[in-house]
Amino acid sequence: MDLTVWLSQLVTAIRHWEASWGAYMPHPAMRVEAEALQTALEQYLERLRGNYPFFHPRYAGQMLKPPHPVAVIGYLAAQLINPNNHALDGGPPTGQMEKEVVQALAAMLHFPETALGHLTGGGTMANLEALWVARCLHPDRAVAFSQEAHYTHARMSALLQLEAIELPVDAEGRMDLEALEAALRTGRIGTVVLTAGTTGRGVVDPIADALRLCQDYGCRVHVDAAYGGFFALLAHAQASELGEATARHLRALAACDSVAIDPHKHGLQPYGCGAILFRDPSVGRFYQHDSPYTYFTSEALHLGEISLECSRPGAAAGALWLTLQVLPLAADRGLGPILAACLRAARRWAALIEASEELRLVQLPELDILTFYPVPPSLTASAVDALSQRLFQVAMEEPEDPVFLSVLRLQAEGLRVRYPALVVDRPQVRVLRSVLMKPEHEDYVPHLHERLQVLVRRLQPRTSYA
Ligand SMILES: *Cc1c(COP(=O)(O)O)cnc(C)c1O
Repeated sequence: MDLTVWLSQLVTAIRHWEASWGAYMPHPAMRVEAEALQTALEQYLERLRGNYPFFHPRYAGQMLKPPHPVAVIGYLAAQLINPNNHALDGGPPTGQMEKEVVQALAAMLHFPETALGHLTGGGTMANLEALWVARCLHPDRAVAFSQEAHYTHARMSALLQLEAIELPVDAEGRMDLEALEAALRTGRIGTVVLTAGTTGRGVVDPIADALRLCQDYGCRVHVDAAYGGFFALLAHAQASELGEATARHLRALAACDSVAIDPHKHGLQPYGCGAILFRDPSVGRFYQHDSPYTYFTSEALHLGEISLECSRPGAAAGALWLTLQVLPLAADRGLGPILAACLRAARRWAALIEASEELRLVQLPELDILTFYPVPPSLTASAVDALSQRLFQVAMEEPEDPVFLSVLRLQAEGLRVRYPALVVDRPQVRVLRSVLMKPEHEDYVPHLHERLQVLVRRLQPRTSYA
């Protein structure tokens, strides 16, 4: 699609709407010289060239990609008006759109229609709100999360002055259920945080099983599905690219107390779009406050009354709303086929790595995040660590045909479970990690694989890993 054509259409439409309100004299202080802008813009665009090519399938590093052009169109149109979704008065249309997209997200998770939720600046704020509600309900009890949960949970627990209990994970990075039950038995825990799509290895905690345990012990369950939440779309389909266990655990999201999910990760949105959903709408009572400044036109619940953040971009809601009109939350069209292609990309590359001499898998991918390492001459943790870091650097700096990966630090003992020959001469080991969150990766991974193989072969002879 030609973005320039659509952008000019929307700018014209908004200018037309503005003109319908009558002419007025713009203040001279607002004027800028075209020449000055031209110079500054050229500098700006030049500086932006310093970015990594997030849009390109050769970028397979972090959770980063540009928004869908439809989201850009939706965002820019509303941004020209700049509604504030803090209160319905701040922008009635985007306020209404926020309610609709939150309902769509709730339906995707199979939450009840009465679920309460709103958009947030991101996953961090969404998780903070979930933990804050958890504290309102269980002020004297701890929060438990796994060692591989996002670091935000430890930080936000500290902020909320909640006791935090870190639970061990199994060899693949999922919460250990026996450790969870032992912790629940102490009676100290009020809320368990599970992760659907861990930031490091992209695994889904055993949500269905953990949920049953938590219910037995009268404990709340919050799921940090910031990354993996959208895969719930596929989990409810009859046949999907998800493994059976993964699908079962993602279906269990429907019965959890709260879920954080980031449309700015797998929902095709620009940054500044997270979401928090609560199964039980009565938690809205904790947010209640009286504002002398706002809320004067409507009796309906204002979004500002169920959010900790005040000003929020109406454009974020508008962009997501427009996106979902043409790319709906469905398994067989819209977002579903995009996510399915990402899953196939990870599996396709995993199969190539399994057949390769130069690279080895850390584990099979569960979603679209792949972890692997280059094989050094002697299989010690320090050699794997050094060669991973070197390959990461060299692949990125290749003048022609670079490959962008990321690096992940793991416990070396965990890696030895799969590769008993590994000599653990240091506690931690860096490996490579690829987030394959663009559907174009499906066709491109053979090329990425080939490039890395060539680079590993080139690195081996002149590197020594004592
Ligand atoms: C990205 C992420 C977060 C943090 O969310 P932001 O949108 O970056 O604030 C939290 N948890 C998980 C699992 C994530 O992947």
